[in-house]
Amino acid sequence: MNAKNLNERLRILIVMPAIKKRRSTYDLLLTRLTMWQSLTAYQIAALCKDNDVTIVDENYEKIKFESSYDIVAISAFTATAPRAYEIADRFRNLGTKVVLGGYHPTALPEEAKQHADSVVIGNAEGIWDGIMKDALNGELKPFYFSQPSFLASPLFNGRGKGIIKGIEATRGCPYRCKFCSISNSAIGGKYMKKPLKQVIEEIEKAGKYFVFYDSSLTINVSYTKALFKAMASLNKKFACFGNINVLARDKELLSLAREAGCIAWAVGMESVSEDALREARKKNDIRKYKKAVEMLHEHGIAAIASLVFGFDSDDEKVFERTLEAIYDLDIDSIGANILTPFPGTPLFDELKEQNRIFTYDWEKYDLYHVVHFPKRMEPEMLLYGVKWLIKQFFSYSNIFKSFLKNASLPMLYHLITSRLIYRREFK
Ligand code: SF4
Repeated sequence: MNAKNLNERLRILIVMPAIKKRRSTYDLLLTRLTMWQSLTAYQIAALCKDNDVTIVDENYEKIKFESSYDIVAISAFTATAPRAYEIADRFRNLGTKVVLGGYHPTALPEEAKQHADSVVIGNAEGIWDGIMKDALNGELKPFYFSQPSFLASPLFNGRGKGIIKGIEATRGCPYRCKFCSISNSAIGGKYMKKPLKQVIEEIEKAGKYFVFYDSSLTINVSYTKALFKAMASLNKKFACFGNINVLARDKELLSLAREAGCIAWAVGMESVSEDALREARKKNDIRKYKKAVEMLHEHGIAAIASLVFGFDSDDEKVFERTLEAIYDLDIDSIGANILTPFPGTPLFDELKEQNRIFTYDWEKYDLYHVVHFPKRMEPEMLLYGVKWLIKQFFSYSNIFKSFLKNASLPMLYHLITSRLIYRREFK
């Protein structure tokens, strides 16, 4: 793009790429039913001010390569990076300037630069204004390092095609678990919160049901309590994430959550083994698991546990042991993930150094594929064990039992769609 008159509007396309393999009609339908609507494109759009902005989320719609743009901004995480690079190459071949950002380009900026004119390292907030000015002047820089001081509210204007919508009150987490791609990144390593007034305005405009996308609403508990108090009269229903140790000790937080409309709280349990938690640098207290789940249930809130398999201390018995523990704890739903060494994490550096990563095909870094050699089992056993556990937990009889127990339609929706997603990914 040549320099433009400073009064001219830029034509900006913002793209959220889809994972390449998910292209069939069934995939697109399932995505529409289950995928959480990304906020990123809409947050960047809000920073574009008076410029002419088009947003394409490839999970719901197609990119029109024949249209003409001054800049194409693409946000990618590791599993979508191959598709992001494909889109970027195609636009650059047409002579359009491409800016790449997101978790993967932030972790591997030199790799991303091979497909882009500019790479944003860190959050777009705080740097996007400068990028647009440089684009107007025809002087885009190869790399932009961001030091954000605020979080943008997304510009929705009735757009956003996903069924499951999100609110972001805070961003980031300071705890640095060894495998965590959020906390170990320049995007999510710094904890930031929006002013309450801004969050409440966003919630008022949102539908009745939403998810707080925040990594954890238990990092700053007094902020969260104030947020929940302010939400009490809004008549909303939501799910959110938090730390199990905090939930086990803070009854007030749970009753405020309930009054604010919380129907499910997801906790990063990760493992029921002390050794695995130590290895992951996760400071969960296993002795508190039972109490936390009981307290959630006392407040009418469902407990969803996020689990990770493939730690060095995990052997082939881990799947049965974990399934017994989650039944015993009376967990309402689970997310079962395969340990994945995302670029930028200490886990990635460690496994790479030990020569234990056997594929760098980023599309497989989606938590459903094994990409490293576990220590105490074969990769095939790790995949088989996770599939087995999923099959047991998301059986129709279990889903039915769970529905009888908590009689919550959103939880039923969550359990059935989780079953469908796992079936697709693990078929
Ligand atoms: S607590 Fe959660 S978000 Fe924070 S570093 Fe650990 S895994 Fe990441």
